Amino acid sequence: MDLKSLIHEVQDFPLPGILFRDISPILASPTALHAALDQMVAHMDLNDIDLVAGIESRGFILGAALAARFDKGFVAVRKAGKLPPPVEAMSYDLEYGKATLEMRAGQGRILVVDDVLATGGTLAAAIELCGRAGYEVVNVSVLINLENLNAMRFRGEPIHAVLTY
Ligand code: IMP
Repeated sequence: MDLKSLIHEVQDFPLPGILFRDISPILASPTALHAALDQMVAHMDLNDIDLVAGIESRGFILGAALAARFDKGFVAVRKAGKLPPPVEAMSYDLEYGKATLEMRAGQGRILVVDDVLATGGTLAAAIELCGRAGYEVVNVSVLINLENLNAMRFRGEPIHAVLTY
């Protein structure tokens, strides 16, 4: 199935000069969603994970769908101020300014997922936060990796992505 042909490319969103890749058509197609979820975990042994961590907000959709499909738990990695205390927090640099991610502390072997990997700042912060919060990050997966914007690795390997640009 050609998932790339379903990605909707929007020039100058959310800011001038940015080419936004919209995954909505994949989510809206039962067969494409099914294929995307399967391909997101094709690189790993699912027996190695207990939980899926999804990064706000499209990471919630993919993460919760993966968790339900493969009988795992789900944990939300949220933007600051959304989760009730107590939370663990992790701040990181954006191109302009700073952002903070938060999650509840817990235990278990975790797969961290998001929709799009761009500079890698968000995913790197989420991985570190999961470790700080008590989880063992055993794998990472994204639907789209914008490879020219990052050189990210997990355990020495490129980040697993269903689609790369
Ligand atoms: P990064 O921190 O620069 O890697 O940006 C990744 C975050 O920005 C992810 O949580 C994505 O959801 C979001 N993002 C960046 N570029 C795009 C895009 O083209 N489409 C959808 N989301 C994007």
